[in-house]
Amino acid sequence: MLGRDAKQSQLEQKGHVFWLYGLSGSGKSTIADAVERSLVGKGHYVKLLDGDNVRTGLNKDLGFTDADRAENIRRIAEVARLFLDAGFVVITSFISPLKQYRDLAEAIIGKNDFTKIYVNASFSTCSERDPKGLYAKAKEGSVANFTGKDSLFEAPRDSDEDWILDTEKLSVGESTIDLVNKILPIIKKT
Ligand code: ADP
Repeated sequence: MLGRDAKQSQLEQKGHVFWLYGLSGSGKSTIADAVERSLVGKGHYVKLLDGDNVRTGLNKDLGFTDADRAENIRRIAEVARLFLDAGFVVITSFISPLKQYRDLAEAIIGKNDFTKIYVNASFSTCSERDPKGLYAKAKEGSVANFTGKDSLFEAPRDSDEDWILDTEKLSVGESTIDLVNKILPIIKKT
């Protein structure tokens, strides 16, 4: 089977997985979408994986219990790895609430090909933004296991080397420029 190096040479880039995580409404999908557009505009080959294209298909049998959340992450990481093998830059946008899930993704993908990005906004900011109306529903009690309310979200530890985007301070445009500038040297073909 043709290896990753041959694919990367053809695509003139180095594949890498950029794993965005954070509370619902923190800005993951909005920023991931803008970053993808920017990188594609610069000639890169990028695959964006997010709830819209994974939870509705591959993972539509999974809910939000701890076991299902872990399985959700495992499958996403395996899919990301397949795209990585094809030389792609992969951007994922999933809450990934527990450190153990992020560690699982890192173990599947491999530390050298994996960068975690914590998209940080407080629960109260996210609930004011409430782009999908989920916080309002959770307040009424009609969403089970809602992250940050009745299901734990673990922020990165000081010892983690994750990149951090503070979307309470940075606009979407600023976050996008910041990320793209940090991503470009990593995916440059050497
Ligand atoms: P997530 O994917 O993390 O659930 P989304 O990207 O779907 O979050 O939603 C974030 C919402 O917050 C969007 O409607 C976005 O326009 C809005 N928003 C407001 N300010 C910001 C900001 N500084 N960064 C990112 N998103 C922001």
